[in-house]
Amino acid sequence: MKLKITLLLAFLLTGVSNYAQQKTCSYTEHMQEKLQDPVYRAQYEERQAAFQIEYERLLANPETRLQTIFIPVAVHFPEANESNRGCLEDLARNQIRILNEDFSATNADISDWNDASSEYPGVNLGSIDVQFVLATTNHPSGVDPDIVEGGPAVTVGNNVNDTDSRWAGYQNFVVKPLGGGTLGYSPLGGRPSRGDSVVMTNTAFGSGSGCSDYRPGAPYDLGRTVTHELGHHYNLDHTWGGGCNRDDGVADTPNISGPSYGCQTPGSVVMCNNKSLTTNYMDYVNDRCMYMFTEGQATRMNAYINTIKDDWKTEVLSVDSFAINKVYSIYPNPANDEINISLISNAVREASYEVYDIVGKTIFKGDLSIDNSVQSRKINTSELTNGVYLLKINSGKLSATKKIVIKH
Ligand SMILES: [Zn+2]
Repeated sequence: MKLKITLLLAFLLTGVSNYAQQKTCSYTEHMQEKLQDPVYRAQYEERQAAFQIEYERLLANPETRLQTIFIPVAVHFPEANESNRGCLEDLARNQIRILNEDFSATNADISDWNDASSEYPGVNLGSIDVQFVLATTNHPSGVDPDIVEGGPAVTVGNNVNDTDSRWAGYQNFVVKPLGGGTLGYSPLGGRPSRGDSVVMTNTAFGSGSGCSDYRPGAPYDLGRTVTHELGHHYNLDHTWGGGCNRDDGVADTPNISGPSYGCQTPGSVVMCNNKSLTTNYMDYVNDRCMYMFTEGQATRMNAYINTIKDDWKTEVLSVDSFAINKVYSIYPNPANDEINISLISNAVREASYEVYDIVGKTIFKGDLSIDNSVQSRKINTSELTNGVYLLKINSGKLSATKKIVIKH
């Protein structure tokens, strides 16, 4: 394990990108710079060691992979004008929708894999069960006077550093002109508790027509630069690792020596005697031609997210984002002698419930651990008198309340 980390560090510190002509991602240079700082380097090694333990545990126990985790997002446009705010907020929402689709393998073009997969026996499609949600409440104070309680955590024209402690606890995205052909960069294995960001250039964020100075530019105009950089943030390397002899730490990505560009016919690029997986988000191909993570990559990201999941501040998410009707089905309502709570989205690992009356007195409460083997729970309501009650569901720092009516 130690050896793996040392090898990776050696690569990051000495390996210089050979792809200057069409460079699209500068995460290796970014990490080389960061790792010069001995404190950063020590934290990096510590985190990678914790990740390695979790990764091996998860590889041995794949059934314990995460169920939905809600990730609070903040998006920063440090060089934009406030007059563009409405448009930029929409652009942020557009990018978050893309991330939710790409990470859950529900993107429309995932169907391209149906044909491509025959070229890659042994490669399975991967997804992770995360929900990126724009934070809307309990914003940090004094960061941007134009962010209001209930409004999205989108800063406009406020300086935000690549690592910014004011934004600790968020999944941060910084969008600003990068120049030099760089589309984006991210730390390898980012740390929300420190306020790390994924950084994209102004023409590689979101899809559609965009906003003044923030227009997605072909061929990187489907928001996949962010998918790629977030992959690094969750500890994914490029598919080519560091060449034929240096793997990317993922078993099911074919071992190759370098990136592909443009758009490649699946199976047509051969390196190190393997077909390069040019359909993968962690390659350099055009946005239209990358559309999948592998199962191995998903497991690796899942393990990394497990090691940092307590970093995220879920109290910045509104109750809406954890709305009961998106996660549970409550029926019948009105109810008579019992009420059922069914999981509809595989959304939580652990939860509890509480039923209280309209003056706030708790009537009863209990565990609501619903998982793959138990999909619903019944609450006995036969002792309740007719009337209106509130059912509150708590999961971690999130909670949501729904009105229920008892009618015998
Ligand atoms: Zn990259």
